[in-house]
Amino acid sequence: MALNIASIRDTKWLTLEVCRQFQRGTCSRSDEECKFAHPPKSCQVENGRVIACFDSLKAAHRSWLA
Ligand SMILES: [Zn+2]
Repeated sequence: MALNIASIRDTKWLTLEVCRQFQRGTCSRSDEECKFAHPPKSCQVENGRVIACFDSLKAAHRSWLA
């Protein structure tokens, strides 16, 4: 099932740890400054992690690489 393995890898790679302070509403950083994800409420959080949408991932990579 090579297709399944590929999709699992993709999902893992797109998974970001959600900022716990943001979840409590106490994070003082912006989404781009914080190294953890600040997902909108429309994003599904699972076990403290969220699968990033491509737009937020691009923004995150910009700040991580800077
Ligand atoms: Zn944060």
